[in-house]
Amino acid sequence: MTRHVETIHIDGVWRAAAAGTRREVLDPADGTTLAVVSEGGAEDADAAIAAARRAFDQGPWPHTPVAERAALLRRVAELLQRDREEIALTESRDTGKTLEEGRVDVDDVTNAFRYFADLVVNEGGGRVVDAGSDQVHSVVVHEPVGVCALITPWNYPLLQASWKIAPALAAGNTFVIKPSEITPLSTAHLIRLLAEAGLPAGVANIVTGPGDPVGARFAEHPQVDLVSFTGGLASGTRVMQAAAPSVKKVALELGGKNPNVVFADACATDEDFDTAVDQALNAAFIHSGQVCSAGSRLIVEQSVRERFVAELARRAQKIRLGRGTEKGVECGPLVSAEQLAKVEGYVASALREGAVLRCGGSRPEPAEERPATGYFYEPTVLDRCNRGMKVVREETFGPILTVETFRTEEEAVALANDTEYGLAGAVWTKDAGRARRVAGRLRHGTVWINDYHPYLPQAEWGGFGKSGIGRELGPSGLAEYREAKHIYQNLAPRPVRWFAG
Ligand code: NAD
Repeated sequence: MTRHVETIHIDGVWRAAAAGTRREVLDPADGTTLAVVSEGGAEDADAAIAAARRAFDQGPWPHTPVAERAALLRRVAELLQRDREEIALTESRDTGKTLEEGRVDVDDVTNAFRYFADLVVNEGGGRVVDAGSDQVHSVVVHEPVGVCALITPWNYPLLQASWKIAPALAAGNTFVIKPSEITPLSTAHLIRLLAEAGLPAGVANIVTGPGDPVGARFAEHPQVDLVSFTGGLASGTRVMQAAAPSVKKVALELGGKNPNVVFADACATDEDFDTAVDQALNAAFIHSGQVCSAGSRLIVEQSVRERFVAELARRAQKIRLGRGTEKGVECGPLVSAEQLAKVEGYVASALREGAVLRCGGSRPEPAEERPATGYFYEPTVLDRCNRGMKVVREETFGPILTVETFRTEEEAVALANDTEYGLAGAVWTKDAGRARRVAGRLRHGTVWINDYHPYLPQAEWGGFGKSGIGRELGPSGLAEYREAKHIYQNLAPRPVRWFAG
């Protein structure tokens, strides 16, 4: 019998959707039903917002001392580690990622909770401002924004949730969250842990359901003070429009079309070459390319192109595809049949537009670890691509690596910046001066030099251009969830006599 999992939690109570609706959550490795969850609607969204509003306006949480809030976040971190295997397995089965990636996610989530706990405790009180008079005491303090609506995607469900939940709670807010309707399980688990850690009822509420109406209601609702959204550009634009009439704060973490720029000198020795190829594979194909910062555009110096691409294709073909929980599997399936169809469409359009297929380009042969009903797609390398092609301009969110070439540093920078997005990118070179020059000129929120993908909770994450607005992680990731308030105290009030009468 299929497992029913509670996923709507409002004012401290797990409940069914108001309309009684349910949804099947599928296992992308074989298309079978993994769990049945409640499918909320606008009525559930409204109830969750009302609970968060009450908890903010009347509850103790916004005024709970910072040290106590931090202690709760640390308890959550411990509980996450206690449930590490269970959550990693849930995440792996729900999203298709490998079990090991699921474990890494749980560790990263744990670190995010610990980081924001430390940050609020260590920063001290307000900032005293010199008002130019010893008769005045002037201080800037930070207060929670209020009710936060958090909307997250399916590729890193727990991780994206934690980058919002940990700072929102550290700052003293209450929240409503809507995870992706296709991967709601790990976020529901996290909400259970928050309750277990002692968070008062109404502070953390979750409603599972479709983007429209649940997410759309969150974004437009006048009782919500902030909406923080991670997802695609099209939905992000709608969220911003819906939020405009109530002038709520808006934070957007959207897509990316991320360049991985490789200069010939980064391939000088066999060892260097091996490292650059290995990291280009990792950049493009980890989690089957369903990563907002995936290095899906290889921009390689012309003189090393052929050798680089040949080796890349040779190794990409050897990536072991299968169910993420299976031992030895290196890449799981795509998350859904819809995502698979989208990826197939991008490859077909690239080939029509003149790209040359170096490897992949189809669904793999079924195998024991790879059922025919799963949404698997081969890692695909498309050579001789250019900016005119749809596959180079748009985020494919699949295991597709496009190859473009350059001859000069100027050209490399121009290509890397020739995107409407600006989330992340990398430069590979042995020349330290060039590395710093190129990194300085890339219009992307994260730039790696001779590396790809690492991020740190203490460093800001977010995008230039259409990759978003605002930052997660780091001190700015906390600042998103706060209002600054200037308190000016006149210690010796006297008439100002501006008006004579
Ligand atoms: P999506 O935009 O389809 O959905 C994201 C979330 O928004 C889901 O919960 C969805 O139900 C909800 N949603 C959809 N329409 C909505 C609406 N009108 N109003 C409110 N909410 C709505 O994205 P996805 O397919 O789930 O995720 C993939 C996208 O997420 C990619 O573009 C990826 O780059 C992006 N992403 C970005 C980052 C980052 O840090 N920048 C991280 C992870 C994923």
